[in-house]
Amino acid sequence: MIKKLIRKILGTKNKGGRDANTPVVLGPQDHGIEPRLLSSNAVRVTSTLQEAGFEAFVVGGAVRDLLLGVKPKDFDIATNATPEQVRKLFRRAFIIGKRFQIVHVMFGQDLLEVTTFRGTTSDSAPKDEHGRVLRDNTFGSQAEDAVRRDFTINAMYYNPANEQVLDYHGGIEDIRGKTLRIIGQPEARFREDPVRMLRVVRFAAKLKFTIEPTTAAPIAVMAPLINNVPAARVFDEMLKLLMSGQALACLQQLRKEGLHHGLLPLLDVVLEQPLGVKFVTLALDSTDSRIAAGKTVSPGFLFASLLWHQVLEKWTAYRAAGEFPIPALHLAADDVLDSQTEKLALQRKIGSDMRDIWSMQPRFERRNGKSPHKLLEHPRFRAGYDFLLLRCASGEIDAELGEWWTAFYEGDEATRDDLVDNVGRAPEGGKKKRPPRRGGRGKAAIVDGTGNPGGGDGE
Ligand code: ATP
Ligand code: MG
Repeated sequence: MIKKLIRKILGTKNKGGRDANTPVVLGPQDHGIEPRLLSSNAVRVTSTLQEAGFEAFVVGGAVRDLLLGVKPKDFDIATNATPEQVRKLFRRAFIIGKRFQIVHVMFGQDLLEVTTFRGTTSDSAPKDEHGRVLRDNTFGSQAEDAVRRDFTINAMYYNPANEQVLDYHGGIEDIRGKTLRIIGQPEARFREDPVRMLRVVRFAAKLKFTIEPTTAAPIAVMAPLINNVPAARVFDEMLKLLMSGQALACLQQLRKEGLHHGLLPLLDVVLEQPLGVKFVTLALDSTDSRIAAGKTVSPGFLFASLLWHQVLEKWTAYRAAGEFPIPALHLAADDVLDSQTEKLALQRKIGSDMRDIWSMQPRFERRNGKSPHKLLEHPRFRAGYDFLLLRCASGEIDAELGEWWTAFYEGDEATRDDLVDNVGRAPEGGKKKRPPRRGGRGKAAIVDGTGNPGGGDGE
């Protein structure tokens, strides 16, 4: 009541001077959304809710993508039904979340997130000492829900039944002008939730939108606030950034906005290390191409790549201090994983995938006897092999090793035996080349780890 009264007196206006409580309504001719881009399950959810007497809309990123003519990767639904009311309407629906309950509605493998309109953040909502909102669970009207969303282009509602888009904050204009603009006062919104700064970077890079200047201005100064955000949330947002299909552009943008500095140890390492840059660039480039081709990307592979040069550095140091190569590599991996987990909550599965990929690397150096056949049977062989090829492509190790493994991997049994028998021998008519293998008494030979091309040959 009081909130409403204050708003009436002050008049809540959005950027166009429009009343933020009254949306601009666009029909199909105005917005041009192609209904074929809509998922049938999203329509099933909105129509079920509407038939039960509730309001229901497709919301957020899906509407933005539909307006851009892009098929949305998932669909979020907003409604005035409470989570309990939503749950009762669907056979496979689960209420999740403690802080703010949302409902997961499942149709086969397809998952839709249904959220009840959220109310405006009250001044009395609990915050940490830097102003980050810790809990805020009130339901509200659609207009209030729109104010709480991050960017104008993410705050539109689409009703599949009448094909209307409701736009509260000038999102359509910003879609057309390719502008990323935060809703409300930028400093206040970044303080409430510093993760929004990472989201600025992700959307600007992914959509190739320009960041509106007042949205961009406070980021450089406010970047350190990300350090107070729980590691798991930062990790989720980082993963979205890296899997956006524009990972390379995102990291470049992070650097441009000064967000990589002190933000995550991961990014400091990645973006400040000259030797690693080529490797990381190749890794992210191949990730982006895989996503463009509709292939899957493993987060373990991604993080293993981002941190490889840090592992290499420590591996070299442990060996210089007298450790045997394999234990040295494990110690290096432990150090790197430990140093990251404080701020980046790497899930256990991802951590163990990273370890597998790293610890497989010295095994690629053993090309005699049964070793290569055994390695081929490793359940994560393909990831380890792809990783090896990246190391070759970046110039860290001799390309010959990667070529040998490609021939071995693709060859039949006879070819494989032949390859093992002829390890390191120059091809017919070629120059005799010293095998890159070394290390006495059958012990695994190890690449040098200095980042020098052909590292390990010591010549
Ligand atoms: P994507 O296509 O990458 O999934 P998205 O816009 O759907 O992009 P989500 O993280 O799925 O991004 O969030 C869904 C919607 O929830 C957003 O469009 C936005 O309206 C709202 N939202 C998400 N995170 C925040 C946040 N930190 N602050 C305010 N609103 C947010
Ligand atoms: Mg989404």
